[in-house]
Amino acid sequence: MRELVPYIPGEQPRIPGLVKLNTNENPYPPSPRAVAAIAEAAREGLQLYPDPESTLLREAIASCHGIDAGQVFPGNGSDEVLAHAFFAFFQQARPVLMPDVTYSFYRVYCRLYDIQLQLLAVDSALQIDVANYAGRPAGGVVIANPNAPTGSALPLAAIERLLQSQPDCVVLVDEAYVDFGAQSAMPLIGRYPNLLVVHTLSKSRSLAGLRVGFAAGQRHLIEALERVKNSFNSYPLDRLAVAGAVAAYEDRDYFEQTRQAVVRSRDEVTVQLWRLGFDVLPSSANFVFARRAGHDAAELAARLREHGILVRHFRQPRIDQYLRISIGTTAQCDALMQALRLLLPAA
Ligand SMILES: *Cc1c(COP(=O)(O)O)cnc(C)c1O
Repeated sequence: MRELVPYIPGEQPRIPGLVKLNTNENPYPPSPRAVAAIAEAAREGLQLYPDPESTLLREAIASCHGIDAGQVFPGNGSDEVLAHAFFAFFQQARPVLMPDVTYSFYRVYCRLYDIQLQLLAVDSALQIDVANYAGRPAGGVVIANPNAPTGSALPLAAIERLLQSQPDCVVLVDEAYVDFGAQSAMPLIGRYPNLLVVHTLSKSRSLAGLRVGFAAGQRHLIEALERVKNSFNSYPLDRLAVAGAVAAYEDRDYFEQTRQAVVRSRDEVTVQLWRLGFDVLPSSANFVFARRAGHDAAELAARLREHGILVRHFRQPRIDQYLRISIGTTAQCDALMQALRLLLPAA
């Protein structure tokens, strides 16, 4: 236990009025239909256990993505789904391959389950080169697409090359941010028995507080995940979570409106950061990853905090001069730019 190194989530301060751009939550509230469905579910049936299979949710997800309900494995946030997937597929004699710059929880799961890993360096522009993954002995591959915390996305053709180059192990593609502008690998599920795609409702569906995510893949992979889950917790999704998540999938208009608003704001923030002298990686996510030459990133994050604005800084080799800034509402983005103009007057 002393050797476990837990994941450290972004700060969730209880100070009111802070502009919270540090954990990639959606700045917009969830669909009103989701909120109404949760209230309705709370009125009836909470004395009973929920459906252990979350059938209604599987069906809603399947119909949204054009797959079978049997190809969907829902869980208590995608973090739980990822943990089960690491446990189910990556305890192998060979290491699991992943980028050196990516979602830091992957390394935590490896430590928890004693899984060997091999980090493959992203290039000097912090991009994943899938050619690096070919021909290496691997017990699995995990990548985030778009990647975190860079926001960079790979095209579907690159994902397909990766799947073809590692046909004998599970290739897990974490698409937490895919709805903000990347191509989903979901259409490849039918053709690649080793593909597992993981989604969350925490980002593009504004439901981080509800804890819902899922994996999609061929039936044999989903069955393995079900075995792990049923050896751990029969009811990871409560009645309120299923009701809210189903309604969120049904409200497609709201989903479209809010994700497009985030994408528009992201593109505006990118241009405004350029004007202030930042390097900004092209982002396909609901955040930007940016650095400003001549200004230490940790220092800048601390100064922004004094102005009531939280952003994320990672004390990690290669990326410690970058800030990850979540896209907020228009007002929050304006507050960010105003504070930055004060802190970087000579830009
Ligand atoms: C936010 C995030 C998750 C976790 O999502 P939850 O469903 O809230 O657990 C997983 N992967 C990546 C890359 C993320 O950024």
